[in-house]
Amino acid sequence: LHQFRAITRWNSTTSAEPKVDLTAQELADKGFKGHDMLAPFTAGWQTTDLHPLVIERSEGSYVYDTNGRKYLDSLAGLWCTALGGNEPRLVEAAHKQLSVLPFYHSFWNRTTKPSLDLAKELLEMFTARKMGKAFFTNSGSEANDTQVKLVWYYNNALGRPNKKKFIARSKSYHGSTLIAASLSGLPALHQKFDLPVPFVLHTDCPHYWRFHLPGETEEEFATRLADNLEKLILKEGPETIAAFIAEPVMGAGGVIPPPATYFEKVQAVVKKYDILFIADEVICAFGRLGTMFGCDKYGIKPDLVSIAKALSSGYLPIGAVLVSPEIAEVIHAQSSKLGVFSHGFTYSGHPVSCAVALEALKIYKERNIVEQVQKLSPRFQDGLKAFSDSPIIGEIRGTGLIIGTEFTDNKSPNDPFPPEWGVGAYFGAECEKRGMLVRVAGDNIMMCPPFIITPEEIEQLISTYGEALRATEERVK
Ligand code: PLP
Repeated sequence: LHQFRAITRWNSTTSAEPKVDLTAQELADKGFKGHDMLAPFTAGWQTTDLHPLVIERSEGSYVYDTNGRKYLDSLAGLWCTALGGNEPRLVEAAHKQLSVLPFYHSFWNRTTKPSLDLAKELLEMFTARKMGKAFFTNSGSEANDTQVKLVWYYNNALGRPNKKKFIARSKSYHGSTLIAASLSGLPALHQKFDLPVPFVLHTDCPHYWRFHLPGETEEEFATRLADNLEKLILKEGPETIAAFIAEPVMGAGGVIPPPATYFEKVQAVVKKYDILFIADEVICAFGRLGTMFGCDKYGIKPDLVSIAKALSSGYLPIGAVLVSPEIAEVIHAQSSKLGVFSHGFTYSGHPVSCAVALEALKIYKERNIVEQVQKLSPRFQDGLKAFSDSPIIGEIRGTGLIIGTEFTDNKSPNDPFPPEWGVGAYFGAECEKRGMLVRVAGDNIMMCPPFIITPEEIEQLISTYGEALRATEERVK
């Protein structure tokens, strides 16, 4: 077992076999220097620098590399290309807008029609509760950074200068800017970056399988977590806690749907102490869970919402913050007093991104995307969950068109495989070898295919997963 060697990816260019990692020193000795990009979230750089998977084009649920190899893109890019790789209407919308007005900003009471139209459309589409205004960003991280600024501005306007702390959850992912990384509950985002910033606190990860006590039901687990949240608030002083932020289903932390009654209970706690609820819908929005928003699925009535990714089906960068009417009112009054609301980005409401987003939203509605996800998800979920009895799988969990697999020994959350075995990486490489890309994070595997995936492609996804799993079982045995 100790001979098990990590493999970061299968090298499609030169070998029919998975490529075993060389150490940085071994590579340096061979004279390899790597490429010129400081690549985001790239581990095992010594291998990926040598052979990054260079994607050249996309079509439907597939992407193609520079060698013409075709891969089923089971993560929809980075949880975003909801309409797949070549939706001509989005290309046309971008082209049309680019030829009329490629750029204008939204500062100083100047703006563009696509940004006004998109704000209106988003406020109409979000029905979990009435929202008042939409603010545009370029990404999910910027949306979450904006949330913190809006909440501080709001509490300052209300004369509550001490109500500034944020509570997020362990294993959450909210982005990688200073504040978004601080809100995130993944140690890798903090390590050696001097994060999190001190005003961010983390409470329990709502992962029942991993953290429930012996004999504890999901409902009891949710009650305990809500009680812990309340204890944290009381310990810190409710007058110091401004907001609580949560993804409806945790994404990058390993795809973790909430236990039954969780959101009902934590919402009651934050409401009791006049703490704002921020829903980070960056992955869940626009149908992913089989509802238009994650808030619809779990009865969340947020004060603020972050969205991005599927907003433009990932075709152009855009994110947004939806603000409740009450908060918008306070921000408006404060800005009037000060003379200006001094927050915004050059590309807030970029007209081309907004035009593409408007077209994406139109397509979601025309094609009944929510119903489509509801139709596809039972086979997607059941087909993959049928592998749950594998001796190397601890848990497979998900809902709608999002699913996570966690490899552990003895089917136990407490028996991880030694990290140096690279079980998740091996599985990822075996998928890649068979023409499918998955997200690997340690021994967690995540999949979140485009909404346009066909039933036949779901079958392909399931059988490729099954083959890669058998190969991984063989390797671990
Ligand atoms: N919030 C959630 C829930 C996310 O999954 C992500 C990205 O994966 C972000 C925020 C950050 O978005 P971006 O990468 O666009 O900054």
